[in-house]
Amino acid sequence: MKITRRVFMASGSAMAAVALGQFSRASAQTGVVNLYSARHYDTDDALYESFTRKTGIRVNLVEAEADQLIERIKSEGANSPADVLITVDAGRLWRAQEAGILQPFTSPRLKSSVPRSLQEPSGLWLGLSRRARVIMYHKDRVNPAELSTYEALADPKWRGRILVRSSTNVYNQSLTGSVLAALGPQRTEAWARGLVANFARAPQGGDSDQIRAVAAGAGDLAISNTYYLARLAKSDKPEDRAVAQKIGVFFPNQRDRGTHINISGGGVVKTAPNKEGAVKFLEHLVSPEAQAVFARGNNEYPVISGVPLDPVLVSYGNFKADEMNAAVYGRNNAEALRLMDRAGWR
Ligand code: FE
Repeated sequence: MKITRRVFMASGSAMAAVALGQFSRASAQTGVVNLYSARHYDTDDALYESFTRKTGIRVNLVEAEADQLIERIKSEGANSPADVLITVDAGRLWRAQEAGILQPFTSPRLKSSVPRSLQEPSGLWLGLSRRARVIMYHKDRVNPAELSTYEALADPKWRGRILVRSSTNVYNQSLTGSVLAALGPQRTEAWARGLVANFARAPQGGDSDQIRAVAAGAGDLAISNTYYLARLAKSDKPEDRAVAQKIGVFFPNQRDRGTHINISGGGVVKTAPNKEGAVKFLEHLVSPEAQAVFARGNNEYPVISGVPLDPVLVSYGNFKADEMNAAVYGRNNAEALRLMDRAGWR
């Protein structure tokens, strides 16, 4: 079975309009679910195919960055063919919520199987996989006994030793949003200043680049989502595996609120021509069969229990996850960015 796939970019909106013309609302009443997704993993295709086998409902996929998808749905207005929106972080789901393009949905199955902290309280969106944002350290230069919390990364003993990407990155905004909810604005800003003072260099690149830089000796600690390290560990390239070998994973805040968790998640679009199909689709993604594939495709943690973890993730060990609701740090993203900017985290 083939997945109908349409990729569009903001600059190619004329072309996108043509492509999207095929996903008409009329043809999409019951037999089709139109999925707008910011996830770009090939393994997800298998999940769309198994959904079609199970329900007879076809999946049309539109892939782009989350902000483009949100803009697209806004501009399509009442005529939008979109049924489901999937993003790879809570901050973007919050933006979609703020843009008024999602509608609440109820599903007893979703409600009971997804942890409460990963469900937006009014039922507008929920988590489909979990991503732990951790401290990674160079095994030769850092004793993990020296590590404890995100807050402790502001300690002067780490001066010139920490690598993290830009504050414009939504993962950092969500992490800082979670610190904000835990510590309040003043202590969080003081923390951000201390952290910035400990940077090994001005932020550049993505999470993988921070890990590579630690391995290469540009610093001793990196803040990164675990799946980036798992990807290096499983790479076909020996040089990537050599990088991963040098790096240890430390789950912060195990003695208090737990390690910060972001989500890949989704919701039902307000104008969905096929709301029922959209809910069925989300239920499918949270089923045990689908969770194993959805989470493993990008080396993430599943949202339901009882799904076997990828062996690389197993090797990082168990950890206590922060149970702060994803909507809290999602909402805090904008304030977190302003605070990071004031603290000099660019
Ligand atoms: Fe990522």
